[in-house]
Amino acid sequence: MVYRGQNLSIKPIGNQCAELCFDAKEGSVNIFNRVTTEELATALEALYQSNIQGLLITSAKRGFIAGADIGEFGPSFVQGPEKIAGILKTSNENFNYLEDSPFPVIVAINGFALGGGCELALACDYRIGCNSTRIGLPETKLGIIPGWGGTVRLPRLAGIETAVEWIASGREQNADAALKVGVLDAVVADELLHKVALRTLHRCVEGKLDYLCRRQQKQLPLRHNSTELFMAFTTSKAFVFGQAGKHYPAPLAAVAAMEKAASCMREEALAIETQTFIEMAQTPEALALSGLFMGDQFISKKARSLAKQSDKSVEYSAVLGAGIMGGGIAYQSALKGVPVKMKDIALDGLNLGLAEANKILAKGVERGRISPVQMGEVLNRIEPTLSYDGFDKLDIVIEAVVENPKVKHPVLKEVEEKVAKDTIIATNTSTISINYLAKILKRPENFCGMHFFNPVHAMPLVEVIRGSETSDNAIALTVAYANAMGKKAVVVKDCPGFLVNRVLFPYFLGFSMLVRDGADFQQVDRVMESWGWPMGPAYLLDVIGIDTCIHAETVLAEAFPVRMGRDYVSATEALFKAERLGQKSQQGYYDYRLDKKGKLSKAPPSEVVSELLKPHVKAAQDFSDEDIIARMMIPMVTELARCLEEGIVDTPAEADMALIYGLGFPPFKGGIFRWLDSISLEKLADMASVHQGLGELYQLTNGIQQRLTNREKYYPI
Ligand code: NAD
Repeated sequence: MVYRGQNLSIKPIGNQCAELCFDAKEGSVNIFNRVTTEELATALEALYQSNIQGLLITSAKRGFIAGADIGEFGPSFVQGPEKIAGILKTSNENFNYLEDSPFPVIVAINGFALGGGCELALACDYRIGCNSTRIGLPETKLGIIPGWGGTVRLPRLAGIETAVEWIASGREQNADAALKVGVLDAVVADELLHKVALRTLHRCVEGKLDYLCRRQQKQLPLRHNSTELFMAFTTSKAFVFGQAGKHYPAPLAAVAAMEKAASCMREEALAIETQTFIEMAQTPEALALSGLFMGDQFISKKARSLAKQSDKSVEYSAVLGAGIMGGGIAYQSALKGVPVKMKDIALDGLNLGLAEANKILAKGVERGRISPVQMGEVLNRIEPTLSYDGFDKLDIVIEAVVENPKVKHPVLKEVEEKVAKDTIIATNTSTISINYLAKILKRPENFCGMHFFNPVHAMPLVEVIRGSETSDNAIALTVAYANAMGKKAVVVKDCPGFLVNRVLFPYFLGFSMLVRDGADFQQVDRVMESWGWPMGPAYLLDVIGIDTCIHAETVLAEAFPVRMGRDYVSATEALFKAERLGQKSQQGYYDYRLDKKGKLSKAPPSEVVSELLKPHVKAAQDFSDEDIIARMMIPMVTELARCLEEGIVDTPAEADMALIYGLGFPPFKGGIFRWLDSISLEKLADMASVHQGLGELYQLTNGIQQRLTNREKYYPI
């Protein structure tokens, strides 16, 4: 053994070569943290001293290297340019050392080689992949750019077009795609990987492969003249900006760095990359997006550990009600391999639920994401039924019948009699209290909420709602089911609106007050979309359904009359009374028409709407963008803070992730609490002080006041 560290080791191969194997002591994946980076430096030093003729790099884990340790890396972003440069330096030295080594270096890539893992592979002479290989540079998704040579070596190895596509999209690529563009030199069956990589190494050692020529290609300027470079990068930048948009500066910055370094030798090109990395790492977007990555890891880990506490896994499930939601839930369960009964009282309902699943699957087949055979398998896992036969064998039943306690209560009572004593029953209600629904049940400990978002297949969040009598086991099994369905589960306590709707409706109230006071709803939509929301509030109300929103608003107003009650007719209510129900009736704030592809597209609002609103709104008034943002966001902020203070949600990270995954809160802001940290609570207090007259939703909560006094952020870094 030449070297043994915690996360990697070197062993001899015969008496000429050596194998450097990554095998992290802790965890199931290899990542580049400080220890690994330092160990790599030491190991390379030892190899240089050892007179070996060739080096093979491998991983003993199921994947190669998943990238840098963001938990360790992210905090350095706020510590200034020198600290950031320091982190880049050691890895760049390591990879250059590898690339300049006096012996050929072959890497065998199994599973994921992302970020730093991909950059290490790019520094090697030959890259051998296998069927499980997934390789890519996802850094721009975190608001940064590759910082360990990715923007330098990838365009030199695979061309500008590939480098722009890989780096700007951040998407991982499969083995075949990587082979096609020359990032991989060969792809073999997983079990042959080591053998083929070793054979390639021996061929280099024997002088049968000219590895030095390949090395040189990565160290020289790009082989294009200035006109070609100008053309290639100008088109790329326009395309990338069009895709990423103004809120995500990193993809464009990466392309600009590649352009600037195009005619440079490696060292100079790396210096340009480092400079751009430092600039990007200090943007609020990088802080927000790396925070979001950590938030995602946090909720996933918590969900996994909760699921482990369940006494069993979900092998067989059912959904009651085959409507929009029931159909979507059944589809998602079947897609992920959990067989599901779909029960309704009407054949029409069942047909509708199945048609919904069919439609989504057919689209998948059309786009080549699944095969017709797989489509058949998924559909076979959905068993439509009008009876309770076989309900005694289920692990969990999701109730998704109409949103009316007078219907839900008897349905829940009935199903409890049909299932086994340990079957968990979860309701998908969006507004009715879990404790209230539980009153009818003999085993309330087996009951909780499992709130999916519409459309189920596309929305990642599931709120798992704990009632006052819900057992830990019921929560654990429901979270296990959400995990099995590929969803992001966040556990919250029972309260009107639970977490997401409880904070969404104050936002809508902010909108109602703005329109009441003379704001143009189209302007409000434009401002909030430009702020980062995927759609403005009027459009969102239309998408959810004006009737659904009026119903939910009423429930919340009854529960929190002082904050959420209103004593005026809102624009949404006026539309409701005129039966303009939004997209479902093709008329709401906007008009909707079916386009050529059969999709609903938004048309400008009709004159009818301004006539309808006239009696309920003041004379048109100009509002600045800043005013609109403050009046829309403060109610959502204060209500979310209240939910945290009341223990409805456990942590700022879970609250932030719930809003991102459930509502589409702009990811580049990292969530509401991260956004507050970035603008400062002082700024929030200033914004709120101007709007005190608008009611309690604009008053800072005790918790916010306390943090202001103590100068305490929601996230320590
Ligand atoms: P929907 O009207 O589309 O479907 C309800 C289905 O329940 C119908 O097919 C109906 O035939 C069936 N049904 C009625 N009584 C039944 C019974 N006794 N047994 C079995 N089936 C019965 O409603 P939806 O939009 O799918 O909503 C269902 C639930 O999901 C509601 O509680 C709703 O609040 C909640 N939810 C809806 C959305 C949404 O955007 N639609 C989002 C989240 C949660």
